[in-house]
This record gives sequence, C-alpha cells and structure tokens, in this order.
Amino acid sequence: MAKLANGRGFGSRVNGLAGLLAIGLALAGCASSNTGDRLKGGPAEGAPLASRERNPGTALFTPMDLPPASEVRLGSGAPGPAYWQQRADYVIDALLDAAARRISATGTVTYRNNSPHELDYVWVHLEQNLFAEGSAGSLSKPMGSRFGQREGVDGGLTVTRMEASGQASSWHEHGTLGRLDLERPMQPGETIEIEMAWSFNVPPYGADRMGTEDVEQGVVYEIAQWIPLIAKYDDIDGWNTLEYLGQGEFYTDFGRFEVRLTVPANHVVGATGELVNASAVLDSAQLARYEQAKRSDDTVVIRGADEVASAPASGTKTWQFVANDVRAFAWASSDAFIWDAASVAVQREGGEARVLCQSLYPKEGQPLWEQSTQMTRHSIGFYSETLYPYPWPSAINVNGIVGGMEYPGIVFCRARSNEQALFGVTDHEFGHQWFPFIVNSDERRHAWMDEGFNSFINIYSNRGWWEDTEMFRGSRNPTDITGRMVSENQQCIVTRPDFIYGRNLGYLAYGKPAVGLYLLREEVLGAERFDRAFRAYVDRWAFKSPQPADFFRTMEDVSGADLGWFFKGWFYGTGTLDQGVARVEQERNEDGAPGWVRATMTTTGGVVMPVEYEVGYADGSSERRTLPAEAWATTDAWTAGWDAGGRRVKWVAIDPDEAMPDVNRSNNQWGRR
Ligand SMILES: [Zn+2]
Repeated sequence: MAKLANGRGFGSRVNGLAGLLAIGLALAGCASSNTGDRLKGGPAEGAPLASRERNPGTALFTPMDLPPASEVRLGSGAPGPAYWQQRADYVIDALLDAAARRISATGTVTYRNNSPHELDYVWVHLEQNLFAEGSAGSLSKPMGSRFGQREGVDGGLTVTRMEASGQASSWHEHGTLGRLDLERPMQPGETIEIEMAWSFNVPPYGADRMGTEDVEQGVVYEIAQWIPLIAKYDDIDGWNTLEYLGQGEFYTDFGRFEVRLTVPANHVVGATGELVNASAVLDSAQLARYEQAKRSDDTVVIRGADEVASAPASGTKTWQFVANDVRAFAWASSDAFIWDAASVAVQREGGEARVLCQSLYPKEGQPLWEQSTQMTRHSIGFYSETLYPYPWPSAINVNGIVGGMEYPGIVFCRARSNEQALFGVTDHEFGHQWFPFIVNSDERRHAWMDEGFNSFINIYSNRGWWEDTEMFRGSRNPTDITGRMVSENQQCIVTRPDFIYGRNLGYLAYGKPAVGLYLLREEVLGAERFDRAFRAYVDRWAFKSPQPADFFRTMEDVSGADLGWFFKGWFYGTGTLDQGVARVEQERNEDGAPGWVRATMTTTGGVVMPVEYEVGYADGSSERRTLPAEAWATTDAWTAGWDAGGRRVKWVAIDPDEAMPDVNRSNNQWGRR
C-alpha cells in the first residue's frame, strides 16, 4: 500500500516527562517494555564512578527466541537443501462487461505439490468476498474507512465452477476462503488441474486496492484481488488461511499467468506481465510508437489525448498477457487512458535488458502524469542497481481511484496535483516489486517485511531523485518518530497487520521498521557490513518466501554481528530510547595539570543504541568518541574514561548530530559549549 504522506500518521511530539513513559501493551509476539521491569546489576567493569544502577539491557542481550533452524531454513538464515515451495500456474479468459461493470472469467490452474506432504484439500482465496454483504472484513472495519465498506456495493464472487480435473471434488466457501476437497489426496510431487469459473460486480471502491473511477472521457477500471488464487501452503503455517479483512495484505505462490482480457474496443489495457499481441490491439501508428518506446530513454506517447476521443467505441478487443514468476496478476482498463512509455536498461546475469516503463492515465492526470514514466524509470533503475535486477519485461503506473497499491509489474497511484506526492507514491509502489514480489514474504502476518523494508529503500531512492537530499526524510527521520515512540497505545512492529490500530499502521508497518534499518545501517553496522547483509537477504530469498527469523539470522550471519539486542529492542519491543550524560569528572595529575576524564552516560526506556559523543576542551579543541551498544549489556550507567592529554574538559554532548531517536534531549549535554 501507499506510504503515508510525510507527517501523516505520526502524532505530535509529546512534551514533558509524563509523556516519556510508553505504555507497553502485552500483544502476541511483543516483548513487554523494559521500563519498570529492570534487574539489579553491578557497576560496569572499569567504571568506578558508576552508581549501582538497575540494568535495562539484560533481557535485550540474551539470545533471540527464534524457531529452531532446519534443513528447510538454515541457522545462517539462508534457505536450506530441503527448502520447498508450491507452484500454481494459471490460464485465464476474462470479459469486462462495461455496461454492467461486471467481470466474468474462466480459468485452469495447474497446481504442483512440491511439499513432502500429502494434501487432502486445497484452500483458495476469494478476496472479492470482502465486498460481499456481511463479510467479516466489512463488519469489523468502520464503514467508509480506508479498508472498510462503502455503500452501494453489490460485491462478492459468484463461483460457478471449482473442481479438480479427473476426480470427484467438492467445494466449500467460508468468507474470503474456499476449500476444494479432493477425492484422491495429492501426493508429494503430484500436479493437479483445477477448473474454475467465476464472476463479480466491480466494487466502485475496493478497499483502496481496486475499483472504478468515472472520469470525463470514460471509466478507469483498476482490477485486482479478482482471481481465485491458490492459498499458500508452506513449512511454517501449513495452509495459510488468514481471512482477508482489508488491512492485512497478501501471500501466494509464484507461477505463470497467461491471461486473455476482452474489453470494449476503445479501451487500453495494462497488466502484470508482457503484452504478447500488441499487433492485434494497436493500430499501426500506435504499434510503431510502442516499439519505439522499448528502445527509448525519452518518453514516447503511444496513445495521445486526441486519440482517446476518436477511438471507435463498438465491439471488443482481446488483450493477451503472459507473466512469469509472479504471485498475483492485476490489470487496468479504460476508454479514457492516455498511454506513454520509455524504457530503462537493467543489468541482469544474462546481460543487459530494457524494461518497458509505462504510464496509463486519464486527462485528469495531466500535466503531472506526463512525468510518471520517467519517475518509473528512476525507481526501476535505482533498485535494480542497488538491490537486485528487476526481473520482468514491463512496469506500469496507473492513475485511477486507488491511492497507492502494488501488484507485480503494475501499480495504482492516485496523486494528481503534487509532484512530490506522485514521486513518493510511485517510487514506493515500485519499491514493492522487490518487497514482496521478488522476496515473497507473508504480508498478511508480517507487514513490516514488505512495507517497512520498502520504506527503508525508498529513503535512498528519494535521495537519488531529488537534489535536496533532506527533502523526504520526513516521517522516516529518526528524530521525527520519537513523538510516536512515547504516544499511548504502543504496539510492537511484529504485530499482525489486521490487529494494528488504524492510526498505528503507518508508524508500525512503515516508519518504525524503516527508521530501524536506517539506524542499523548508518549508526550500528555501517554501509559496508549492512549492505552486504541486506543484499544477501535479497539474493538468498529472491523468488522464495522468507520468515522473520530468516531475515534476522541473515543479517547477523553476513554482517558478522550479534544484533539480538537491536532486533529485540526495536522490532519486538515497545520501549523508547533516552540516552543521557549524567556527570563528568576530571582528575588532576601530580603536577596539577588536568588528567583522566570520567564521563558517566545513561540509557533508559527499553531500547539501547551505541552512543556517539563529542567532548569539548577549554583550549577550544574537541573530539568525537563512541560507546558500543554492548556497553549496556550489564548496566544502564556506563562510565567511560580517557586521558585528555592535559586538556581541561569543558563540555560533553552525546548524539551531537541528533541521529538517534532520543525521546529526551534535555539530558544530552554536560557543561556549557
Ligand atoms: Zn506499501
């Protein structure tokens, strides 16, 4: 989903000490905040001036409570020799009835059981049933809210056929899931075919993920969550049968989609995958421009505004798409679409390829959307270069009713008036091509593994696009999230997204994990160690499905660091960070000159971080010193000592660059600068 606009979703700063006590809610998976739950600890070694402070770090520095490693998921965090995942390939024919705003489709799924297990039944997602009257999602989300129901929806799937080929099977629907019981259980390695037919009314507002928009020259359809996709069966949860409630996103297997979309003849269609019959749906002039765009850095208009009005309206055309190694298929269709495109070079293992970056928008999107294709080129190029080469032939940005939503190879973005907003949402939705479409994590349980990782990489892509490098740090700036860290109703990052309070979603799924990774890179590990580990995570899990433990283990294994204290404090905890300098003393040498310095630094709140501090001397000189996070393993008041070389200490300032999300800066300086 779209990132939240900067500032939105983040409460105002809480002033005063009363606000500093975060309320830790005992939610599943969360460690309770260490505040008020400390253990007695002795003074740190070499810290004779430290008072006997209670120790905040003990719980953070014990080993993480991760599931045991196996030959499926190794202790290093990599997939093991016994790793397996299922595969589902789809062949689909769909018809858009524009008069009725209804889609009907038939399809065949080829489902392969790569697991070592026998399967008696197959679960199927029926996500359109979120829009059926009485769905669990519509009854549990406020009417009119972002993921809630809107009035006047006659939605939900009508499944008229769902059966396994060559054997008896029976079909049972339960909300947004359906179960196909097999007469003959699927054996390990066996493949079955499932025949299906279904239809649904397109909801005008589809929980901010799909829907329709009436524009001056027609109707923009953004279609997603429309295929009965086989649910994920994996080694962690078996069948993944969490209901689609609106807020939690998706998790399915990779496969090949061959889709034929029949729409009114004056429509233009964009979809996941590659258009394979361009010559059948475009006139010769459009076809020439389409081919030109495949080789052009500059934006080429394939269907201009003038051609929108003059397109013949009678009859239908069938657009054919093929997509390989994708976990979903979405599309957009409209008589009002202006269509432009350009391509960007991507270095893949087999050599350079050009990805066709395209934009589809009604004239209401002009003139801003004329920049969309170049924004798309930037994002596809940037993430390909820094993370992993974009693996698909096409990337399409669509302007319609959806605020911001990602699908493989195609994204829906709403912004029409603000360039920063359009770049921000475009870059974010295309960033999702890496998380979760290349690295296929379970979004319905672990939103932070797609939204958070994506928001993190967006920081660097933004810096690559805008000359003002600070412009977009906004909500992801470590010092800007402290207001949220001290606000009420804390939940931990690893909370299941459907159970995150609406106003916490932007903070917990996006901002806090992004800032956490930013701090891990910039303040803890440094770019060399972090980047090597983060890229290894992407390489290891590209086109596979990692769990949280696989990420934590990979980061430790490849960076060569024990990061349990960091992940426990930041991802599993609800605490805050308050670093302080409590006192500074300096001895006198026998000759009376200023001697050894002792500075006592403190940490409270349940999160620990390394300390960077600056020391100023009476002679006007200054120096930077550091304290590793490990100093907090046994104490919350560490006394650092050093020889000042005969200089008299005048002041000590911790976190002089304000890089840390320190909720209380009033205790960060000793002495006067
Ligand atoms: Zn997102």
